[in-house]
Amino acid sequence: MMRYADVIVPLPLHDSYTYSIPSALESSVRKGCRVLVPFGKSKSYVGIVHTVHTKEPQGYEVKSIKECLDTLPVVTDTQFRFWKWIAQYYACPLGDVMNAALPARLKADKPTKPSSKKDSAATNLDTHIYEESTGGGFHALNKPQQQAFDAICQSFITKDVTLLHGITSSGKTEIYIHLIRQALSEGKQVLYLLPEIALTTQITERLRSVFGEQMGVFHSKFSDAARVAVYRKQLSDEPYQLVLGVRSSVFLPFCQLGLVIVDEEHEVSYKQQDPAPRYHARSAAIMLAHQCGAKTLLGTATPSLESFQLAHTGRYGYVSLTTRYLDCQLPEIEVVDIKRLKFQKQMKGIFSPVLIESIGNALAHGEQVILFLNRRGYANFLMCKTCGWVPRCPHCDVSLTYHKKTNRLVCHYCGQAYMLPPSCPSCGEPRLSDVGIGTEKVEQQIHRHFPEATTVRMDIDTAHTRAAYEQIITDFSHHQYDILIGTQMVTKGLDFDNVSVVGILDADTMLHLPDFRSAERTYHVLAQVAGRAGRRNHRGLVVLQTRSADSDIIAHVVHNDYESMFRTQMEERRQFHYPPFYRLINIYLRHNDYSRTEQLAHELGDLLRQTFGDRVLGPDRPAVARVRSMYVRKLMLKIEKQASANKVRSLLFDIQARLLQQPSAHGVQIYYDVDPM
Ligand code: ADP
Ligand code: ZN
Ligand code: ZN
Repeated sequence: MMRYADVIVPLPLHDSYTYSIPSALESSVRKGCRVLVPFGKSKSYVGIVHTVHTKEPQGYEVKSIKECLDTLPVVTDTQFRFWKWIAQYYACPLGDVMNAALPARLKADKPTKPSSKKDSAATNLDTHIYEESTGGGFHALNKPQQQAFDAICQSFITKDVTLLHGITSSGKTEIYIHLIRQALSEGKQVLYLLPEIALTTQITERLRSVFGEQMGVFHSKFSDAARVAVYRKQLSDEPYQLVLGVRSSVFLPFCQLGLVIVDEEHEVSYKQQDPAPRYHARSAAIMLAHQCGAKTLLGTATPSLESFQLAHTGRYGYVSLTTRYLDCQLPEIEVVDIKRLKFQKQMKGIFSPVLIESIGNALAHGEQVILFLNRRGYANFLMCKTCGWVPRCPHCDVSLTYHKKTNRLVCHYCGQAYMLPPSCPSCGEPRLSDVGIGTEKVEQQIHRHFPEATTVRMDIDTAHTRAAYEQIITDFSHHQYDILIGTQMVTKGLDFDNVSVVGILDADTMLHLPDFRSAERTYHVLAQVAGRAGRRNHRGLVVLQTRSADSDIIAHVVHNDYESMFRTQMEERRQFHYPPFYRLINIYLRHNDYSRTEQLAHELGDLLRQTFGDRVLGPDRPAVARVRSMYVRKLMLKIEKQASANKVRSLLFDIQARLLQQPSAHGVQIYYDVDPM
């Protein structure tokens, strides 16, 4: 009897395609193996065999598999189960999940030899430096840490997920290390997730010093070969027992997963934005652990409202840690009202007198300073003071950022750089002025006030590679520089002993972003930045400059009052139908014709409203309404938390199918962002 294989191909189309298995390949084609299959007129792809069966497909000519690339499966049953959940929950085809889950080489149509010498050399690059120190970094827990550790173990008896809410420097990482050791001693595997930017040499070294060769590191900045090597090793008889990795490491094969740690669980960057699958690594990790019978620990100093809510209602276990290691105090936070100071003409450029004085004091004592702002570039954007014209990217519909060093305008979506117009193209005014401040401008002004001080900037421009980023951190921690000027990047789990002053130059940019999470995010960022000051020997000072000195959120940050922030924000979320009370689904529609895009978006809106009523918002132009010459429209669905996700998804797919049936819908793309961030 003829046998057939349903094959997942790495395309955002259907879940799988059916091919016949030629008799020569019958013994080798198995579930989880890679096969080379013809596609369309002349293409071929590497796909993954999903099922083998004898049911002949009807209504089209079945093509046959060209080649089988594996003798052993490269995707396990556990992974398939997880892929399916991702595809269902995030409303995307399995091909998209396959694309995210497998390193590029495993999808290339040249068969790669399983773990060639070159592959393993690539991973060892990072490991052999630390081999010597194996076992050295293990510390005994102090009393509060031991209590938290015991409470977590206790909580795991009844709860699958536990939230560890511990202030910065309380020793969360030490607790993770103890939990990992315990899991490994029971023969279980551990996945330790960190946001991209927090996965630094500092943390790698610290874990390496305890777990040595048992640990593998999976970073998206690693070469594809290195990632394939980790993937292959996890499939082998001797997998890493501990994987320290970023978001995408949830897709690695595990055979004995016992514990997943999601560090900095509040981090927005755990959410994949583009391309599909637009998954949240925290949710995915919890599901992966659940499917493997493992436990999940979420750790952070500033929980996401979603996680805290679930802990609050008892769905998750909750353990808190409120003392810093060695009892060093949280920094003092001084709020500076820059609106008033500007009015009184007391600001020294972008610095308040208090900040200048504190920086001066720190430098005089040989201490270091971190200055934080939420932007990069010299100025955020240029503007014509006469007519208000702002240069924008013609492809992406976002304002361009001015980079002084290169004297160019840069689009931060497509990366295109533009020359400065000699005068305003709208009214002819000869000079465009810069609006807002950037790290370069801060550096320039610092040099004016403190010509002796050495400074370094950390933003996407100066730290665009992992090596450059690591170099800045290392140099700063060795006091090669007095002042670190940075964007968001400086907030991530860095541990600098000698920093006594942190200046937050402008707390407002974040607060006024058009996003319902902006207040929560501002709290997270400010609390994390503040946590960088005075980590060991003495109490640090945070100077927080803001135009919203009397806002709730600033008060909550100053008093380190997470619970008040939680209550205030939850009230707003409830009132305005936002998560965690409602589930959001963004529906995007893309087309290369402007008026067709408009018309189809409105038709889709009407169809959605027939089913979902006033739970539908839009269509609206998203923040970026045009990407790579495609026009984009966005609709938003707010669904009651209790509603069945499966039901909602199948309704959405029905509506999509109805729209796509129309001849006018030719060439339109529709995709979803479930739980958008
Ligand atoms: P968190 O992860 O909560 O920010 P860390 O685990 O990084 O805190 O701890 C902060 C600092 O204190 C680190 O340098 C760490 O090595 C040190 N530390 C914390 N707990 C201990 C301990 N029990 N023994 C020795 N050093 C500790
Ligand atoms: Zn652009
Ligand atoms: Zn003008």
